[in-house]
Amino acid sequence: MREKLIFEMSRSGRKGYSLSSSDLSQAPLESILPARFLRTEPAELPEVPESEVVRHFVRLSNMNYHVDKNMYPLGSCTMKYNPKINDYTCDLPGFSALHPLQPAETTQGALQLMHELAEMLREIAGMAAVTLQPAAGAHGELTGILLIKKYHESIGSKRHKLLVVDSAHGTNPASAALAGYEIISVHGNADGRTDLNDLRQKLDGDVAALMLTNPNTIGLFEKEIVEISRMVHANGSLLYMDGANMNALLGITRPGDMGFDVVHYNLHKTFAAPHGGGGPGSGPVGVSEKLVPFLPLPVIEKRDTPEGPLYSLSYDRPESIGRMMNFYGNFSVLVRAYTYIRMLGPEGLRRVSENAIINANYLLSRLLGSYDLPYPKPVMHEFCLSGDRQKKAHGVRTLDIAKRLLDYGFHAPTIYFPLIVSEALMIEPTETESKETLDIFAEALLKIADEVEKNPELVLSAPVTTPVKRLDEAQASRQLNICCQL
Ligand SMILES: *Cc1c(COP(=O)(O)O)cnc(C)c1O
Repeated sequence: MREKLIFEMSRSGRKGYSLSSSDLSQAPLESILPARFLRTEPAELPEVPESEVVRHFVRLSNMNYHVDKNMYPLGSCTMKYNPKINDYTCDLPGFSALHPLQPAETTQGALQLMHELAEMLREIAGMAAVTLQPAAGAHGELTGILLIKKYHESIGSKRHKLLVVDSAHGTNPASAALAGYEIISVHGNADGRTDLNDLRQKLDGDVAALMLTNPNTIGLFEKEIVEISRMVHANGSLLYMDGANMNALLGITRPGDMGFDVVHYNLHKTFAAPHGGGGPGSGPVGVSEKLVPFLPLPVIEKRDTPEGPLYSLSYDRPESIGRMMNFYGNFSVLVRAYTYIRMLGPEGLRRVSENAIINANYLLSRLLGSYDLPYPKPVMHEFCLSGDRQKKAHGVRTLDIAKRLLDYGFHAPTIYFPLIVSEALMIEPTETESKETLDIFAEALLKIADEVEKNPELVLSAPVTTPVKRLDEAQASRQLNICCQL
């Protein structure tokens, strides 16, 4: 049944509130607001009792899909379950009632939390220092690339090219372009990893840095990372790691030890802050020693005094790239990540990654007979299947398979990314799913593979059980184009 709009539920005179006259200001409105801001006609608002308002929004929320409802297998996005204690700590009034312009003497706890979080992230990735300012992964990339640019300027080099591997997340070339670089694509080999011969040919005196994702976006570890790092540095270039997906590395290995000069983290993926729907996120950046002087302002400093540690915000960094964000980053996300890391500790973080890797390989092993795997396993925290077999034999695309999954009560995986896999179906189960949930999910995908053979029409018409059925996407994108042109 279609859910009515709240305006359609409105009946004149029904109210969801009552105010006694003492709650209302007695002053005439004209004395509070200039006349030109006052309404001449009463506002058209729905008139609905509280009970109906609550039920309306609960019904709407039930139509929604979220990680508190069921598994969210979106590859590269790390939609893990976010423990509720993270929300509890970030709601504590000592954090939530702070004003960003309060003097540092009155915000010591918040500064201490940020300082300690930066230290923990520094340790986790093996870097020299970390800034917490960037507001998202892509923003972290831009920050990291501006640091690289500033470094090259500081030694008088005018390198203008940035190498990006072709399996990279779309934000990598976008951030590099925003920072003013020419982007050169480096290809992968038959194994799904960076092709060292191609890299060698493209590494010339104009290359400022190579941007790499490890494990890469098809879930494979770049086994030759030490050699890649040697080649890049021998060329006078720097090495950037897109660390949005650190879920396979925690406590096992560190970007700093692999030779990376810059890494960005996605706290809203790996470190369990809710995400989706546009934020807020947080994309801290870790750097090696030679980039420390260029970090964004302000820098949180800790000084030991006889009365104990004193935290302050320092603006005294003449070589800094400047501010990347108003105030100090998305503080509520920082509190969540801090809680999460402190709660798990080093052993717990390592178990996160071990379980994420085991879950991905288990799920992959259950699906292998029915879907193609273009690059050889084992994988790290995610894997990328191809729907080529289904498309060639029955004209059913990955898009249709993803839509059919909705009928089985699951969010769709990432599809058509990375671009190097045709009919890509990219799945990241994360460590927070039990074997039982993984089995139910695997059985849904196996059943769909069976339906593709026996009843392709069913899959082509999916979804049929959702509040909104299949949309005409060709028409939708035409309309979107028209809107964009307008
Ligand atoms: C999510 C993601 C990003 C971008 O992060 P945002 O916070 O969405 O800007 C970059 N790289 C990879 C590999 C990602 O998965």
